Amino acid sequence: MIEQVLPDIFKIEVPLPKNPLRATNSYFIRGNERNLLVDTGFNCEESRDAMVSAFQELNVSMENTDLFITHLHSDHAGLLSFLTTPQTTVWMSEPDGYVVGGGQLSSHWQIFSGFLVGSGLIADGIENTIERHPGYRYAPEIFGDFTNVQEGDEIKVGSYRFQCLETKGHTPGHICLYDQDKKLLLSGDHILGKITPNITLWQLGEDVLGDYLRSLDRIASLDVNLVLPGHRYILNDCRGRIQELKNHHKARLENVLDILGDQSLNGVEVAQQMKWDLSFKDWRDFPWGQKLFAVGEAMSHLYHLFQLGVLQLHCDNDIYYFTKR
Ligand SMILES: [Zn+2]
Repeated sequence: MIEQVLPDIFKIEVPLPKNPLRATNSYFIRGNERNLLVDTGFNCEESRDAMVSAFQELNVSMENTDLFITHLHSDHAGLLSFLTTPQTTVWMSEPDGYVVGGGQLSSHWQIFSGFLVGSGLIADGIENTIERHPGYRYAPEIFGDFTNVQEGDEIKVGSYRFQCLETKGHTPGHICLYDQDKKLLLSGDHILGKITPNITLWQLGEDVLGDYLRSLDRIASLDVNLVLPGHRYILNDCRGRIQELKNHHKARLENVLDILGDQSLNGVEVAQQMKWDLSFKDWRDFPWGQKLFAVGEAMSHLYHLFQLGVLQLHCDNDIYYFTKR
């Protein structure tokens, strides 16, 4: 489905099969000599067909279109090899491009297995099969020909002049595009309406939630009238939505502290008791993917509290346990 959202900007809804996100919003921006496509959908038939028919409907081709990928996730980068022609420039940040380029692929299993063990998921009986992960199943083919973008880089297309804003948190190299004159933000998965972007801690070391909250503050300081997000509907009240997202994480941090009480608990034990916007009554009914999502969120909140000095952390039998100081 294509919808014109601004002069020369078209939102293409790219379906994501059997995924709670339902679709990725790709944006096609018509330029003078070169057009720009922002994000792609999964590397799968449904997403591919939608993109091909959108290009037919818009009567455009990838030969004179460049590609901007907001972040490494497969629902945004999946089709990049399929869409790229020899004439296409593909922009992406260095940290995220490194993963898609295969730099971390050999250690991918290791990081994933480490997360399953350290969070307590393996001890809780979860199956260690990365193949079940949609991000793995619909990943782009290894692609290394990126033009790296970083903070402050400018991309011009037609009457739009976008500035690249580093907004790490959802991924290490997430980038938003901002047109200051038009007060327009292409937010990727940094700011979404209704759904809250997933903030997962895959391995200890980086305070991903702290990064995310700082990146939100950064966007809150900008003058924005219209947000074009990577999923669901378009937003007008950027600052209001940022405040809601911050409140959500604040409540979640308090929830985690309440659950901990005087106990020493691991990621799974905390996630089991957290409030989730899901219809499953019992933790045992959570599907495999939802367990990963929930425990990844629990771990990012626990580790943020550890970084703030509120919690202490110890390792027992390769599982991390958190206790109040
Ligand atoms: Zn994402």
